[in-house]
Amino acid sequence: MGVQGEERTIGVYLHIPFCLRKCPYCDFKSVAKPGLTEAEEGAYADALIKELSSVIEREGLSQRPLETVYFGGGTPALLSPSVIKRLVGSVRGAFAGCCPKGPEITMEANPDTVSVERLKGFYEAGVTRISIGVQSLNDRILATLGRTHTAGRAVEAFKEAREAGFDNIGLDLMFGVPGQSVEDWEESVAGLLKLGPEHISLYGLTLEEGTEFFKLYKDTKRLPHEDDVTEMYELAVRTLKDAGYVHYEISNWARPGMEAVHNSRYWRIEDYIGCGVGAHSFLSFPEWGRRWWNTPSLEEYIEGVSVKGSAIKGDESLARNESMLESMVLGLRMLERGIRGDCFRERFGTYPKEAFPASLALIGEGLMASKGEDLTLTRKGAVLSDSVFLRML
Ligand code: SF4
Repeated sequence: MGVQGEERTIGVYLHIPFCLRKCPYCDFKSVAKPGLTEAEEGAYADALIKELSSVIEREGLSQRPLETVYFGGGTPALLSPSVIKRLVGSVRGAFAGCCPKGPEITMEANPDTVSVERLKGFYEAGVTRISIGVQSLNDRILATLGRTHTAGRAVEAFKEAREAGFDNIGLDLMFGVPGQSVEDWEESVAGLLKLGPEHISLYGLTLEEGTEFFKLYKDTKRLPHEDDVTEMYELAVRTLKDAGYVHYEISNWARPGMEAVHNSRYWRIEDYIGCGVGAHSFLSFPEWGRRWWNTPSLEEYIEGVSVKGSAIKGDESLARNESMLESMVLGLRMLERGIRGDCFRERFGTYPKEAFPASLALIGEGLMASKGEDLTLTRKGAVLSDSVFLRML
């Protein structure tokens, strides 16, 4: 907030919608494409490049310093290193320059879609950070999740990424999975820590409507009890702190200085362009900012971009109160940084406690902490973050 025009950096998200097969809990925009052909990946990469250049031209963003590129999905590691190299080159070439440290270029990967050779290829293509979806280090839980890899394969993938040259590796785990005990979870967290990644993301399973898991588990008692899920999160908070990780966002931990730069852009409400099937974009101008999002259909996306350079399905301009609420909710997710009262006031003309009187009660209950006009979530507030955010509404 407060940085104007071309000094403002930009992030680019590229959505790769292909997966080996659809996981039963997943509602991301992805399609099962086990035998992705060279022609299909080439056509999709062409569309991404075309869409990006038309957004940059339409919005006048070419002079912005590029801070981050993020290949998300889906399973971006299904693309061949040569295609990733072409995409990285195109994104870098589309902007006049990068941030002084050079852009952080992240790629999500699944353990069973990588090998040392492929990882070396991604590294040489310019990817600087790899985020591996481990989900669990327990084969029974992996089978419940319908994952195509084993715990052993996940550990190997991590070692292969190191061997390929990556010195910034993130690993993800899921908790609250049907049949998962607190002990199962503890073992997975301990196994992850043994590997020593730079970054760790821990996500609680949510039953998303329209998924197989929703049908299977919605009205059953087969999910772990709420108290056990809370204990899993708290156990991770304690264990990761003892291991020296900074709990910088509700679901994210990092070695000091290794926080994910791209994702931090979302929480700080900084500009990003999202290209690809179902991708979202946000620009903080004019006024309170606006977002747009693409069609979730692969066919419509390819068709739209080839005909008119875009495949936008919807857009919205934010009102002042919507922008304030987003700043509050996303800012509080960053547990260390929280909401800076002065920055908030500079943008909205009011301090956060004035704009959200509910924050006073939340402070009183020990869910939020305040230092002058700055606000942060407490550890208790982080555990109960959903209800804190609801009360803010
Ligand atoms: S691999 Fe990831 S994106 Fe693909 S279906 Fe599974 S959870 Fe969803």
